[in-house]
Amino acid sequence: EVKRTGRNAFLFHRPEFNAQTNERLRQERRLRTALDRDSFVVHYQPRISFDSGRVVGAEALVRMREGDTLIMPGAFIRVAEEAGLIGELTRVVFRQACRQAARWRQGPLRDMRISVNLSPVSLQQPDFIEEVTAELAGFGLSPDQFEFEITEGVLIGANPRIQEQLDRLRDLGFRLSLDDFGTGFSNLSYLRRLPVDTLKIDRSFVSQPELDRPIVEAIIGLGRSLQMKVVVEGVETGDQESALRRLGCHEGQGFLYAPALPAEALELFCAERTGCATAYG
Ligand code: C2E
Ligand code: MG
Ligand code: MG
Ligand code: MG
Repeated sequence: EVKRTGRNAFLFHRPEFNAQTNERLRQERRLRTALDRDSFVVHYQPRISFDSGRVVGAEALVRMREGDTLIMPGAFIRVAEEAGLIGELTRVVFRQACRQAARWRQGPLRDMRISVNLSPVSLQQPDFIEEVTAELAGFGLSPDQFEFEITEGVLIGANPRIQEQLDRLRDLGFRLSLDDFGTGFSNLSYLRRLPVDTLKIDRSFVSQPELDRPIVEAIIGLGRSLQMKVVVEGVETGDQESALRRLGCHEGQGFLYAPALPAEALELFCAERTGCATAYG
């Protein structure tokens, strides 16, 4: 029951200040404080090729630091979107990812592609692409080192502006993936129109408690027949991995390999898997 009338300005329509509103405002305040204090850290979860067993990429997953605790994004992304702060948060995450990519370029992880999650709100922001390309240029990086993950939800309502932004991103050389695929089912015909390279099968089909084989098989078939790469998230056991590989999935992400790790820990993880030194001092 709160209407925003500008940054930090609110109009209360009800005299009673209910608990929910109170809680929402408190969360918003925490978020603003964290942005002011630069308290966000990005962790990286490796993506593994089923063919080679190698780390081919990493997903940037943001955490909010509060004292000694790390708050997971499930607790603040929605708030950020609703409070008009997601643009700022995305900028923080993308900048950290660029800094990391620039460092990784100098050593054995030079080919690792970093995936960044995008909120639909960012795609509606008119200067989003200019911002992103300016940031990249500042680090001397090129778009093909990055992938943006969008969810199907973005496409519901098929906003022509979003399609246009996605086309521009793809033309610039960014990769695009459809995240949590299979959970926001709307209309499959959009898959043809979209410049998306990769389908990421939602982990709810993979790991609770066992593989939902018919669904997974159908998604893999769909992705492959559209010449897309098919990635699964939430791989937790070796049995799941072998089943998914047999079904034709290309890459996987999950606790079987590693959770999202601080950047240096990811460097060590990669070094251990390939048996060479990290070379990042
Ligand atoms: P997502 O993009 O689908 O990311 C995958 C989530 O699944 C991550 O949770 C990851 O830690 C978790 N996960 C990975 N492997 C496994 C597994 O084997 N088992 C289980 N149980 N979980 C696994 P996390 O980091 O809490 O992120 C949650 C969601 O928050 C993400 O889902 C994404 O939608 C959103 N998010 C994270 N970072 C950002 C960001 O920078 N920007 C935006 N807009 N959203 C973000
Ligand atoms: Mg994701
Ligand atoms: Mg996902
Ligand atoms: Mg998911």
